[in-house]
Parts: sequence; structure tokens; C-alpha cells
Amino acid sequence: MNTTSRPARTVLISGASIAGPALALWLHRYGFAPTVVEKAPAVRTGGYKVDLRGGAIEICARTGILDEVRAHSTDMDGGSYVDSEGRTVGELPAEIFGGRDEQDDEIMRGDLARILYERTRENVEYLFGDSIASLHDDGEGVDVVFESGTRRRFDLVVGADGMHSHTRRLVFGDERRYKRHLGAYISIFTGPDRLGLTRWETYHARPHKLISVYSTAGESAATAKNCFVFAAPAELAYDHRDIAAQKRLLADAFAGDDWEIPRMIADAADADDFFFDSIATIHMDRWSKGRVVLLGDAAHCTSPASGQGTGLALTGAYVLAGELAAAGGDHVAGFAAYEEVMRPGVELNRGFAEKFAKEMTVSSRRKIAMRMFMVRVLPRTPFKNLIAKKIREEIQRAANAVPVKEYGAYETLGTPA
Ligand SMILES: Cc1cc2nc3c(=O)[nH]c(=O)nc-3n(C[C@H](O)[C@H](O)[C@H](O)COP(=O)(O)OP(=O)(O)OC[C@H]3O[C@@H](n4cnc5c(N)ncnc54)[C@H](O)[C@@H]3O)c2cc1C
Repeated sequence: MNTTSRPARTVLISGASIAGPALALWLHRYGFAPTVVEKAPAVRTGGYKVDLRGGAIEICARTGILDEVRAHSTDMDGGSYVDSEGRTVGELPAEIFGGRDEQDDEIMRGDLARILYERTRENVEYLFGDSIASLHDDGEGVDVVFESGTRRRFDLVVGADGMHSHTRRLVFGDERRYKRHLGAYISIFTGPDRLGLTRWETYHARPHKLISVYSTAGESAATAKNCFVFAAPAELAYDHRDIAAQKRLLADAFAGDDWEIPRMIADAADADDFFFDSIATIHMDRWSKGRVVLLGDAAHCTSPASGQGTGLALTGAYVLAGELAAAGGDHVAGFAAYEEVMRPGVELNRGFAEKFAKEMTVSSRRKIAMRMFMVRVLPRTPFKNLIAKKIREEIQRAANAVPVKEYGAYETLGTPA
């Protein structure tokens, strides 16, 4: 196979969430011609709040989207834990809660996806409602057949299609070889605001379960986001496209529970942004094969437990485009450098996720009582700033684990016209 032919120019990116449009933006800036294919009919705007910290904030600034990110900040004041009667048992202000540094921010995933799409739609070809059906890499390029029947040839293909990456399955094989279930499931959806929340998050812990409800600065007054986490040591058998089955699994997991849970579970029936998935990580020895490379969750999902998946998706896009440009479009050198820059930081974050996933739920009422005691005591202890600093330092180490290199050209090329 000849891999040292003319420099790559045309790039097909599968997935228009965070990693895909961010990569398209940078590739266009460097003079490549990106095309993004997304199986959904439009950019998916639903989702949850995601933290952007450390290196990811620097990359937002270089991308030219930081002001817009700030304008869409969730602007949360803090959160509280309640018991089964709805009584507050402890409150934490945002500065202890989020483990954030001053420049860090939090935004709804859907807002970030929309910002990236709006910034790229003029200069990048988007194919919505389509997907790669098959691809053939002959060493000189990749022949792609789309589900729509269209056939095209690209210099490179990037799979930025999430934890259940379709591109990974086509090129690297079955997901089960790469996915590690971390012993819990998460579900999130919009429902009526039953607690009257404004920029506040309410938590309720039960043995092996954690429920949270929040309303961000941008959320409508009538609605809130419901988030359910439950421990499940073994993976549940279901089709990840079968939403009705996932709603039944969620209802079964929380059957018989009190507080607002029965009403919130009933609200799931009407939710059109219902999300349900295993908390899992993706582990691969290599992220590229020939002219195909994986990016974001498709390559190295660190799970919601890490709180860094979006940051890593943005960072990976910046690094992949930068290294391809620095290598003059030589994908062999570019892909190798991308992996070398990203891998240590990814591994550190995946390690954190594996640790935090175990702490998302606790196993007994006694342990919940201990956690509630900590929540009550923490804001009043004279050591609170020290504890907050310690939490922040650990999170910041993860958030800055990938070096934000200077690729130079972004300064001279500026934002796309
Ligand atoms: C509840 C929750 C909370 C989270 N909190 C945080 C946080 O605080 N901080 C953080 O950094 N991260 C967080 N994350 C993780 C973060 O959302 C992901 O890591 C991030 O969205 C990864 O982006 P991505 O673009 O790689 O993949 P995804 O966002 O998964 O996007 C994949 C895209 O590919 C599309 N697609 C799928 N299949 C195909 C196909 N066959 N053809 C074409 N397109 C396809 C999908 O429709 C989707 O648009 C959280 C995740 C969850 C679930």
C-alpha cells in the first residue's frame, strides 16, 4: 500500500456534534476541504451541561468561539442534596461543586454543537440525514458509499461519530473489543420543572442510585433536566437505538422509589431528547488505520464520569488538524503525531473516569448519611478553601493534561472568510 502519495486535501468527517465540526473548522482554516456527514436530519441540540476547563478553554479562544461560549454559560449558582421528603440536607456553592478555575466555564452540549456548526456552515459541506454505508481504502484515497446511495472519493476519512462509532465498527471491528463498562448507567432528559429551580441543581441519593435535576441560565422557566444514574455491575442487554426499551429499563431500575422519582420517570414518556447509555470508556491501541482515523469519543471515550469528554473532543480536533497541517497533509506523519500528543492526556483522564465512576453512587444508607454529613460540614469548615483547592488541582491536572501546542498557521490564516 502506497501511503506517501500527494498530500491530503479532501476529508470526510462522520459526526456533526463537537469533534466533527471543530475539526472541520480547523481543517478549513488550514486549506483542507472538509465534508461532514451526520446521520441526524440536523445538528442535535439536546443534551446536558458540559464543563470546559484548562486547555479546552484556551482552544475555544484560539477557535474564536470563547465569547459565544461565555454568553451561553449555564451560570449555575450551586446545588443541594435533598432527602426523600424533599428536605435540604446540605448545600454546596458552585465554586466547591464544580472544581473549576476562574477561566473555566460550563455550557450545554447542544449550545456548543450549534455554535460550532454556525461557525462552519458557510465554508464546510454538511450532509445531514446520511451516513457512511461502506468504505474502501486503496492506499491512494478512500471510496465511500453513503446510505443514500451516493458514491464519492476522499483523501481521508475521520470517524467523529461518538462512543458507538459506526466508522470504528466498519474499520476496526466490533465495539465490544474496545468498550469497558464502568458499572453504571446514565439517563438524561428534559421534563417539567417540578422543583421550581433557577440556576440550581438538586441531588437525591439512594443506595446504588443518584438522581439530579437542574435548570441552567438558558433553560425555559417551565422545564428542567432530569438525570438518573444507577449502578449495574453487568451490562444490560438492549438495542441502543430502541428508545422505548431504554425507557422501560430506566423505569424498572427506579420502580418503587419515592421523592419526585415516580413523576419524573413518568415524564420520560414524553421526552423527545431522552438519552440513556452505559457509563463506559473506549480503549484502542491505535486510532488510525491507513487513511481512516478516529477522533473524540469514537477514539477514546472517557465517559461522563471524567467530565472531560467534550474538552478532549475539542482538543483532539485542534491537534489532529494542526498535526496534519504541520505534516503538509501527509496523513501517516500527521496521524502519528496526533496520537503521540493526545494519548498521555487521554489515559490520565480515562483513569480519573474509572475512579470517579465508582464514586457516583454509594451502596448503603449508612454511606449516604456519611456523604450528607460531609456536604453539610464542608461549607462551614475552616478548611473549605483548602479542600476546594485540592479538588480543583486534581481536576485541573486532568484538564491540562494535553499540551496546547502552537501550530502557527492559525494566527496568519485567521478565521474563515
Ligand atoms: C450526561 C453526560 C454528561 C457529560 N458531561 C460532560 C462534561 O461535563 N464535560 C465534558 O467535557 N464532557 C461531558 N460529557 C461527554 C461529552 O458529551 C462527549 O464526550 C462529547 O460530546 C464527545 O463529542 P464527540 O463529538 O466525540 O461525540 P458525540 O457528541 O457522541 O457525537 C457523535 C455524533 O455522531 C453522530 N453519528 C453517530 N453515528 C453516526 C453515523 N453512522 N453517521 C453519521 N453520524 C453519526 C451522532 O448523531 C452525533 O452527532 C458528558 C456526557 C454525558 C452523556
